[in-house]
Amino acid sequence: MGKRKMQNRREFVKSIAVAAAGAGVAGRFTYDVFAQAAAGGRRQISIGGKRIRVIDAHAHLSIRNVADVVKGTPFERNGNAAANQVIGPDRIKAMDALGIDMAVLTQQGAWWYGVPDRDLARSIVRTMNEGTAAVMKQYPDRFIGMAAFPMQFPDLAAEALEDGVKRLGLKGGGISAGFIADKEFSAPEYDLFWAKAQELGVLLFMHPGGDTGAEAHLRGKGNLGNTVGNPLETTIFLSHLIYEGTLDKFPGVKICCAHAGGYLPSYMGRTDGACVRQLDACSSKKRPVDEYFKTQIMADSMIFRDDGLRHMIAEMGVGQIVYGTDMPFPWPINPDTILNNRLLNNAEKEAILGGNLVKLLKLSPAATA
Ligand SMILES: [Zn+2]
Repeated sequence: MGKRKMQNRREFVKSIAVAAAGAGVAGRFTYDVFAQAAAGGRRQISIGGKRIRVIDAHAHLSIRNVADVVKGTPFERNGNAAANQVIGPDRIKAMDALGIDMAVLTQQGAWWYGVPDRDLARSIVRTMNEGTAAVMKQYPDRFIGMAAFPMQFPDLAAEALEDGVKRLGLKGGGISAGFIADKEFSAPEYDLFWAKAQELGVLLFMHPGGDTGAEAHLRGKGNLGNTVGNPLETTIFLSHLIYEGTLDKFPGVKICCAHAGGYLPSYMGRTDGACVRQLDACSSKKRPVDEYFKTQIMADSMIFRDDGLRHMIAEMGVGQIVYGTDMPFPWPINPDTILNNRLLNNAEKEAILGGNLVKLLKLSPAATA
């Protein structure tokens, strides 16, 4: 993919950042993380009288030092960190106001997936990962860092994931697009990447990059590039990993997908219907689609409706759902949306708000604030 596409993707991210700086979201939800943050101290959340640790699986970060690495290259513009994604006191205040104890941080935008030079790609993700590790070191009880890698070079992606986990102490990796150019991540050349993730036994967090190829049809009102394009990209990503047999080949791989896992958790029946209608469509996968969601695929809670979340639990199991905010972007993601869900019991609320990630990321119970 060319430079122009990279800039479009970046501009897309910037336009969301501008929206985040406004007074909130018009319409049904009027919610502003930062307005609440200005109001006061740290909220401590309990369920049934028991203090629980709230962990946000979906939070963005930017690393300022990346700008130095791409200076003088065609990616110079991409390297400028989004100010509201640089981790500092403002983010801590926003988390405190909501009652979020810890956040899982990933780099998003995926512009570096378009870097054609191996050495430059390696330097970019190394700087990102060292910056993320520094944030973890500065705020050890507040942030969990995930490694970035260059997915255009599967061997370098595996190397960067291992370096991030083993040398820098990051807890897993972030996949920042559903695919690149004409390559699907289910292609055999990615086997070494999936094998490395399985060997390390770490969680991967997948977030769409905002470039589905359908952008010409997603213009106009409704922010359709985000509301339709993002879940579509995630759905395509997961469908390939399932139908090409990648998840069967690497049963230890666990991927948590942003935005309630895209459309697939709400559409599995019809997706599996292809196996009845056309047998050869399913010749590479070994299990029904929902089996992958009950074991290897997780999703954040960004569905925004009581019934929507209940449906995800019914399809995937409560152990596969984790709380996500998309911070710093102003979605209706207050933990109260989980705490007040009329269809969940206390054990389910605790699992989603943090319990599942404590187990999956092997976090120490003593780290609770
Ligand atoms: Zn996001």
